[in-house]
Amino acid sequence: TSVAEILDRLCATVPDYPKPGIVFKDLTPAFADPQGLRAIVDAIVAPFAGQFDLVAGIEARGFLLAAAAAYATGTGVLTVRKAGKLPRETFLEEYALEYGTAALEVHTTDIAPGARVLVLDDVLATGGTVGAAVRLVDRCGGDVVGVGVVLELEGLGGREALSGHRVHSLQRLG
Ligand code: 5GP
Repeated sequence: TSVAEILDRLCATVPDYPKPGIVFKDLTPAFADPQGLRAIVDAIVAPFAGQFDLVAGIEARGFLLAAAAAYATGTGVLTVRKAGKLPRETFLEEYALEYGTAALEVHTTDIAPGARVLVLDDVLATGGTVGAAVRLVDRCGGDVVGVGVVLELEGLGGREALSGHRVHSLQRLG
């Protein structure tokens, strides 16, 4: 079975979540499936094989992908966390939400100079979240070699917001 078939079968669609008018894509059934998790992780790293030293996972669903991808490829994980969770000195990058802003942080010293970093998250929508993670890696002295997501929600500008970076999605939904 291909990863596309697995996602078609196991990605749940939740209307009006988290609020009316939003159609939320829920990947938890695909992560919970033994073939699903492996197929997703293998497919998300494949285009970048041998090109990264560190996998940045964005809290929280990106952590699942990043840990599995790093383990599978013999690389390390960078935890990109919601603001206020990390204990040592951090860089902070804000990004726009529909109402207001949110922020992500990384420890300033968690990336070796020049490390090649693959950034992973579950869903790319406007690109605000991944964009903030990319800026954090840059500020830490890492080199973002690519962005991998399971689902890309087309028409929200995510790919354009990340222009200049290689963006690999397993499935595009318009
Ligand atoms: P963006 O910042 O690109 O607008 O939104 C992407 C972020 O919001 C990701 O961290 C992602 O986990 C979350 N997100 C936005 N829409 C969805 C969705 O439909 N399903 C899931 N699982 N996450 C979403």
